[in-house]
Amino acid sequence: LPAVPRPKPIDISHHLSPLARRFKQSKLHSLYKYGAIPGMANLAGGMPHPSFFPFDTLSATALTPNHFTTTLHTTFLQLLVSIKKPSHFTIPKFPPPNSSDPSTDIYLARALQYGPCEGLPVLLEFIKDFAVNYQHQGKIPYDSPSVIMTSGNTDGFNKALEVLADPYRGDKILMEKFAYKGAVNTAACRGIDVVPVDVDKEGMVVEGDDGLQGILESWDVRRDGPRPHLLYTVTMGQNPTAGVLSVKRRRQIYALCQKYDIIILEDDPYWFLQYDRFTEVPDNDTFLSTLVPSYITIDTDGRVLRFDTFSKTMAPGCRLGWIIGHPTIVDRILRLSELTTQMPSGATQALVAKLLVHTWSMSGWITWLSLLRHQYESRMNTLCISLEAGKTVTMIHLKNIRLKEIVDQDGNVIDSGKYSLVHKAVKELYEFERPMGGMFVWVRVYFEIHRLYDGMNGREIMKALWEYLTGEELRCLVCPGQAFGATDEIEEREAWKYFRLCFAAVEETELKRASVAFGNGVKEFFELQE
Ligand code: PMP
Repeated sequence: LPAVPRPKPIDISHHLSPLARRFKQSKLHSLYKYGAIPGMANLAGGMPHPSFFPFDTLSATALTPNHFTTTLHTTFLQLLVSIKKPSHFTIPKFPPPNSSDPSTDIYLARALQYGPCEGLPVLLEFIKDFAVNYQHQGKIPYDSPSVIMTSGNTDGFNKALEVLADPYRGDKILMEKFAYKGAVNTAACRGIDVVPVDVDKEGMVVEGDDGLQGILESWDVRRDGPRPHLLYTVTMGQNPTAGVLSVKRRRQIYALCQKYDIIILEDDPYWFLQYDRFTEVPDNDTFLSTLVPSYITIDTDGRVLRFDTFSKTMAPGCRLGWIIGHPTIVDRILRLSELTTQMPSGATQALVAKLLVHTWSMSGWITWLSLLRHQYESRMNTLCISLEAGKTVTMIHLKNIRLKEIVDQDGNVIDSGKYSLVHKAVKELYEFERPMGGMFVWVRVYFEIHRLYDGMNGREIMKALWEYLTGEELRCLVCPGQAFGATDEIEEREAWKYFRLCFAAVEETELKRASVAFGNGVKEFFELQE
């Protein structure tokens, strides 16, 4: 069947910041494509000749896509393909002399040279194919979303704010009330006020006064200034609350964003880390189609700008990621990149491209993500099992009561009559939701049960508990919740009542020790013994 043409995205140019409207295309960068024509003597660019680069080759040994064994049921076929050969590769300085497809060659003379700010073409093409046809399953509803490589999501979000937000026009941004501080600070330091929205175990909440609908409906432009036109959200493995937003909730939020003309900035470093979805090792198609889909798959308008990163799928130090979304916004981000970062590091792009395009290929990359997901799920289970086991303490209160002695006919005491009254009480020390995705567990500590709690000093108790956990004996470092308040008010009012525990960063055995230490530490701190 012929493909049904998709509609063009709507005009969103009124969302652009004054800065983004002033960008002009760099004359020099527009010449790059001519420089790539074989045989063209490039006297235009201020480029050093590659023979002056000190690097001749770049070699690496990488894991195979099926490196991680899994405890999930594995079929015989999967066992057969799970023979693990490490992947070695070398990136040469120049392309092979008789290359059949020079456009896909990866070599240092190109990768380490100034190049297109969208990204190294061979990597950009791979990522476009991955994002459009695999990650989002061919479901992006509008025609030709654009993709640009970034230096990770921090870079991507920062650039998005540059081109979409303007404090002088009173721009504000909606965010989950507990949010990733990097994003909060990126907005706040520009004078873009954050408007906190309620969050539950799934993610951003629609209903209620503090839900998105309530906030938008009760917004009074004369009282509150312009209604926010940006919504920042982490929808898979929300940082710190670990929810995964259902499609139903996505549709409700998307409809509200259409009604109030809001651009959605979907920051998704943990997209592939969704839990409790697989009982056996899925094949690649099942893996991709079982994950909850992104906002971009319901984005008929082109109002979703999506940020992906290699930080959690390869390594944070790669500083590499991408943005996919409305061509107008991506084009403005490209112009901004020309003036700031140019392209992400050529060495990293070459290394990642060589691994993905020439070594693993698309199916290997998806298998890698799928098995990596399973590794994280197993760590999440380790932490949650210990946290669950340590979350209550059973208090036994003994009380002596004297009853009449029981004496036999010879006068011997059969029963002294001293009885102990046993009273059992189960106390909860903290509570948490099992993560639906991501890398974190968000723990609400019941500081209220501490005998020194006087109704006012909860913060001090939490601070002292944090210090106790970090001490010599327990060596368990957790992140205080106030690091995740989307505003000062949320920080003051409630974020400090929580700790965020990350199950990703330490070895499995150390994770076990630390998670038991956490439960024991809280118990000791509250001076509660079973
Ligand atoms: N967004 C969120 C929600 C994160 O949790 C993180 C990393 N902790 C980032 C962005 C940073 O991503 P990157 O390394 O790609 O800049």
